[in-house]
Amino acid sequence: MTRILYLEDSYLKEIDATITSVKDDKYVTLDQTIFYPKGGGQPHDTGSMTRGVQRYNVIYVGKFSGEISHEVDKPGLQVGDKVHCVLDWNRRYKLMRTHTASHLFASLLCNGTGALVTGNQLEEDKVRFDFSLEKFDRDTVQCYIDEANKLFRRDISVKTYELPREEALKIPGIIKMAEAYPPNVPNLRIVEIDGIDMQADGGTHVRDLKEIGRIELLKIENKGKQNRRVYFKLAEP
Ligand SMILES: [Zn+2]
Repeated sequence: MTRILYLEDSYLKEIDATITSVKDDKYVTLDQTIFYPKGGGQPHDTGSMTRGVQRYNVIYVGKFSGEISHEVDKPGLQVGDKVHCVLDWNRRYKLMRTHTASHLFASLLCNGTGALVTGNQLEEDKVRFDFSLEKFDRDTVQCYIDEANKLFRRDISVKTYELPREEALKIPGIIKMAEAYPPNVPNLRIVEIDGIDMQADGGTHVRDLKEIGRIELLKIENKGKQNRRVYFKLAEP
């Protein structure tokens, strides 16, 4: 099994690793990885693997049969090769800031309105959230965006740790999305925004809310009687 380093330290930008399998000359598994695979509403990482002077771009990362598979852009890598892996850190760091921002925003909005999250997808340049809620307007959403931005100016730490499944599932709101029920594993990974929000989550996050900066509301849409869609993005400094 691959050791999943981004769960232990989401700030690791490069590592050395050994190739443990190669399929169709382009799908590679490693003994350890910093590449996040697409899933849980977070896009996959990109970057490169270098062997000697040869560089292979990592163009897609997915989880297949429980293993993290890295798709490279050209053939040649072999089992046993030592490679130096480097993340496209700009992309990843943006996704970390966006992911933590989306937890905070969802927490404020759900606690304030009683809404339930029905969908959530991070993209490189924006976040899409679906909520089930009857009454909803742009001003209300803007209030929660403003409230989030106030919290992003404070030093509030974000921690990740594991809790036994039974214990974790007793925490109110630990699972914001009904469909995203966590896999049947003995321990759940918890992402806690200190004193504000706890969620079962396998994604990558910043260590402190201050790293997020600010978010901006892009648009809201009605999707049927109950379903509301919100788009927001990180504001450029
Ligand atoms: Zn999340």
